[in-house]
Amino acid sequence: KTTHFGFEHVPESEKESRVGAVFSSVASSYDTMNDLMSLYIHRLWKDRFVRSLNPGLHPTTSSLPSSKPTPQTILDIAGGTGDIAFRMLSHASTINNDHTSRVIVSDINPAMLSEGKKRSLETPWAGSERLSWVEANAEKLHMIEDESIDLYTVAFGIRNFTNKQAALSEAFRVLKPGGVFACLEFSKVNNAVLNGAYKRWSFGAIPLIGQLVAGDRESYQYLVESIEKFPSQREFAGMIERAGFMLPEPPWEDLMGGIAAIHKGVKP
Ligand code: SAM
Repeated sequence: KTTHFGFEHVPESEKESRVGAVFSSVASSYDTMNDLMSLYIHRLWKDRFVRSLNPGLHPTTSSLPSSKPTPQTILDIAGGTGDIAFRMLSHASTINNDHTSRVIVSDINPAMLSEGKKRSLETPWAGSERLSWVEANAEKLHMIEDESIDLYTVAFGIRNFTNKQAALSEAFRVLKPGGVFACLEFSKVNNAVLNGAYKRWSFGAIPLIGQLVAGDRESYQYLVESIEKFPSQREFAGMIERAGFMLPEPPWEDLMGGIAAIHKGVKP
């Protein structure tokens, strides 16, 4: 049984503003804390996630010799400090020699976005049209047109959304037919021994590191509890399917025995 620091009984109507307060509070220490809490493993997972999506120019399906490959428009939802977006652009450029595809980073939290913009100044894409920033709730993306996105990504974000099914429907709406939804999220560990060690680390060490390093135990306690409440791999795959997506086979990939998982869906 977990100890609770005030988020356990938060009504759904207040969840958005409480989650907002958490990320405003952790924004400046977010990247350091991610490294500490995950023992740098989140970097490997993010690398794997991006590699598995192989972002960047792909030849059009047309067989006409004159047809040019079309640049991709990638939407990274809950993009926070830009970790996924920078990897996407780097992969597109270095692996696929694509210098035109672009990433829109979207997040509900202005403090997280401004950390991302600050970090982008150290990348080759600072000020470039290939990288843009949009403040938005993933459940209501009205500024993004229907069927305008090739690849929708969300990493360690969806468990914070109040209405996850609404966010999945929005993902479906904004994706082009054939477009891909991809999610990297903490999930359910499928091995009892590993699960025991993982629970001790997450409920014991993470809030303590949050307190000692970031001076904010409660926010990190929330982050741990939100992982606990997130649906299992199978349940989440069902939610993706319910939003209208076709699931690949297998429908998800476990990372480190299910500590995290990658789910994908294709819009028919
Ligand atoms: N994707 C980044 C990464 O992998 O490092 C950031 C993940 S961070 C744990 C979760 C992010 O979700 C925060 O930046 C937070 O502001 C954002 N978020 C929470 N609720 C959201 C919502 N309803 N819509 C969009 N973003 C949201």
